[in-house]
Amino acid sequence: MMDGVQRRRSRYFLGSIYKARRSRASKKTKEKQKEEPIKEARLPLDSVAMESSSSFSRSSASASPNTNLDQQPRLTVTQLMQLEVEEKVAQIYRVLNGVSPHSQSLMSELWRDKHVEFLTRGLEQLGPSYHVLDAKIAPSIFPFVFLCFLHLLDLRKDKDGGYGGGPGQLPHLATTYAAVNTLITLGSENALSSINRDNLYKFLLRMKDSSGEIDVRASYTAISVASILNILDYELAKDVGNYILRCQTYEGGIAGEPGSEAHGGYTFCGLATMILINEADRLDLPSLLDWVAFRQGVEGGFQGRTNKLVDGCYSFWQGGVLALMQRLLPIVDMQLMPSSDNGELSSIGSTCSIKSSDLAGQGSGTKIHAMCFYGTILCQSILNLQGKLSDIGFHFVKRHAESVPLFHSTALQQYILLCSQVLEGGFKDKPGKYRDFYHSCYCLSGLSVSQYSWSKDAGASPLPTAVLGPYSNLLEPIHPLYNVVLDGCYKSLDFFSTS
Ligand SMILES: [Zn+2]
Repeated sequence: MMDGVQRRRSRYFLGSIYKARRSRASKKTKEKQKEEPIKEARLPLDSVAMESSSSFSRSSASASPNTNLDQQPRLTVTQLMQLEVEEKVAQIYRVLNGVSPHSQSLMSELWRDKHVEFLTRGLEQLGPSYHVLDAKIAPSIFPFVFLCFLHLLDLRKDKDGGYGGGPGQLPHLATTYAAVNTLITLGSENALSSINRDNLYKFLLRMKDSSGEIDVRASYTAISVASILNILDYELAKDVGNYILRCQTYEGGIAGEPGSEAHGGYTFCGLATMILINEADRLDLPSLLDWVAFRQGVEGGFQGRTNKLVDGCYSFWQGGVLALMQRLLPIVDMQLMPSSDNGELSSIGSTCSIKSSDLAGQGSGTKIHAMCFYGTILCQSILNLQGKLSDIGFHFVKRHAESVPLFHSTALQQYILLCSQVLEGGFKDKPGKYRDFYHSCYCLSGLSVSQYSWSKDAGASPLPTAVLGPYSNLLEPIHPLYNVVLDGCYKSLDFFSTS
């Protein structure tokens, strides 16, 4: 049963549209149910909010969820779990639609103070073991958890470069990425100057050795750290693009390693890496876009893999990919052109015989490379790189977004605020799960990406209509390639380009 607070939560945007169409949609769903008991669970994305709620209404009308599920023995375990999740989400959405617009607006609020409280409490509980940085527990990082812990992070710094997950642990790329992003988020001179970039560069080069961790996440964390610290060069980038290219699957998404299944986290890591090394056009971007766009489910949130359940953390992993794709649409268009119209630029993966890895040591390499790849389509700022791979990340975000959001941004905010948000503070994967720091980080990152998805220029304040709930819900914009607050990125750019 839902408590009183949950009962009051609502979404104003569904309001009258939902009420007007509910009865028609319910009737239509009941008719379909007779013939297609499984298929009806999948509904069109463009009607996610309204249609999913009406679909859900059938199962609560006369029977409990379990009874209803028992009547569908042909479903797999995952399908049964999917129906359970849909029912839980539907319960929340039905309550929301039953309250006044004022209550709906109130209940779609981001409980900022509660989240700060939850995170602060987490920091206080870290104690001397700092297991929050442990790679086994938190493989994908939640930098802002460490905001007050610069002095502790410094203890993690390995003398040979890189940062470990805990006392006595070897440096690791994922924890290095977390530590560097945290220091950049802190942004103070003390924080930034504590990073020994020479040692870190040597550490990253050592990780390219075959004895290091080899997968797309490792590639991303290494390249991201090097880029944001202005130490990315052709030596580090060498062959990384070839490896990631081998990880793009037949579905269009990117897997953790060649031959594995396409996955939201790895798709973000792979695409962001390819952008940072100026080789994004080598990927099959139309099929990548297609795969990610269809990972947004009837609940409004994203799933990480095909036929898996919705999960709040993919609000950033998948939502972030689509934010990046908004700035890559000219290349998508180019790749979709018939070869006869496209001349030499027609074939994916072979648009240019020159790759960044071929250009090591050539001062104007990137300029030549970018011109070959993008012709006059891509922004002038990239063409003016003068050979520095490190500048790509900062120039990329200044590119004008080419389109409206490539996902249903309101539905995603709705899922994050109403299904993932815990009123006592923190965020969770989905209803029925427990909150944790990892999901708190990536739900907030996804919320930020979603709120700014209508802004043509990075960091430009979105219109109130782009922000679900009160405008006070608006978060700081993040840099979608690094998942670091945009201001922190600019500050580090200034700091490391002059130091
Ligand atoms: Zn998750």
